[in-house]
Amino acid sequence: MLQSVSLAAVPAVDRVLNFPAVRALAGEYGRKPTLAAVRGVLDRLREQARGGGLAAGSTDESRLAAQVLAALEQAARPRLRPVFNLTGTVLHTNLGRAPLPEEAIARAVEVMRQPSNLEYDLAGGARGDRDSLVEPLLQELTGAEAATVVNNNAAAVFLALNTLGLRREVIVSRGELVEIGGAFRVPDIMARAGCRLKEVGTTNRTHLHDFEDAITAKTALLLKVHASNYAIQGFTAAAAESELAGLAHAHGLPFMVDLGSGTLVDLGQWGLPQEPTPQQSLAAGADLVSFSGDKLLGGPQAGIIVGRQELVAKIRKNPLKRALRVDKIVYATLEAVLRLYRDPERLAQRLPALRLLTRPLADIEAAAQAILPALQTACEDKAEVSIAPARSQIGSGSLPVDLLESRCLAIAPRAKGRGEGTALKAIEQAFRELPTPVIGRVADAAFRLDVRCLEAGDIGRFAAQLGQLRL
Ligand SMILES: *Cc1c(COP(=O)(O)O)cnc(C)c1O
Repeated sequence: MLQSVSLAAVPAVDRVLNFPAVRALAGEYGRKPTLAAVRGVLDRLREQARGGGLAAGSTDESRLAAQVLAALEQAARPRLRPVFNLTGTVLHTNLGRAPLPEEAIARAVEVMRQPSNLEYDLAGGARGDRDSLVEPLLQELTGAEAATVVNNNAAAVFLALNTLGLRREVIVSRGELVEIGGAFRVPDIMARAGCRLKEVGTTNRTHLHDFEDAITAKTALLLKVHASNYAIQGFTAAAAESELAGLAHAHGLPFMVDLGSGTLVDLGQWGLPQEPTPQQSLAAGADLVSFSGDKLLGGPQAGIIVGRQELVAKIRKNPLKRALRVDKIVYATLEAVLRLYRDPERLAQRLPALRLLTRPLADIEAAAQAILPALQTACEDKAEVSIAPARSQIGSGSLPVDLLESRCLAIAPRAKGRGEGTALKAIEQAFRELPTPVIGRVADAAFRLDVRCLEAGDIGRFAAQLGQLRL
């Protein structure tokens, strides 16, 4: 039984602040944060003393200083931190989606550090338009007449609808009234954009004549939403983009496609499942196409709208464009990412999102082998670690039914039966508490770390912190 001490043994704040070690901390971390840390530590000790659980020695100078240091370190730690995404979902929305290529990071750092020509035409020496920084690249890569960029694809859809369909009707297939992760629901966006939704067809089948029958004088636009995050299988029908474009144009209406992910290259060349491209939609006659910057494109969070000059010009003039515009960091990184697409042969090497998605299985296997011994040592008697088959997902709503063959490190608690669930939770938590948190997933009685996203250059950093794992 430990000897406990009374409330009176807890020193006053001023006394602790005067400990030489604590004074040194105040010099390093600042006086106010140190005061807050001391108060926090002493409050906790008083509470323990009141409960009779304050062990003798807890109020020693060195112990107190160590606790103050721990509190200061905790408070100084950034809230937004890097993690290891070993969930198996490569473009994980909760974990920041696409990692950016080094080229893009370098460009972002440059424009963050000093002024840039964000809205300044260097050739003419006059005010410029920030969209002109990426428009020529988007024209070249997609074949579109014009392009504009906003905060994300949800904003792109919202802005286009608000510009073209305010107080009028937008026709959409019932099979495409989708919800995409959390708060993006097509009917809700439509209502907030001030458009009236006219649903046509049924969940599984919508025909061209359903659209045709719904067109009236109040119709503003025909919209097609790519059903990114689910697949309807079996008895299905949907009108082709070329047919919808033809129908819209015959009535003098624009046709818009929300592609969601939208990649600029044919993923089939790397053995990945095909995903529609803006080029295809534009070639099929779409007047506007919107897609995300940080899904398959592999860039920063952004919403890209490409299409007819006259419609893009209208969108740019909408006062809400100002509210939804993106900053120089996004333009810098987006430009750098788009530039990589000019050289498709090297894209899979240079663009991290694509590099991870096309990573050879042998390479993933080798990474798993490389970290297995360190992981086994770190888990010791608490869990058994082995390499197991896994299936990675692309994520961010792309290609929901297609999974990529991968390998995971399966960490199975040695505790079986009643304690097993608790042990699994404890393992998951211990990995989350590492200096660079490791995020995996629990499946089939093991905590699983899909190694696809742990590249050769990350292995050292990953292994180095395993010594701090507290299972
Ligand atoms: C992901 C997605 C969106 C939303 O895009 P964000 O860039 O996340 O705002 C909209 N529509 C579709 C079809 C999507 O897949």
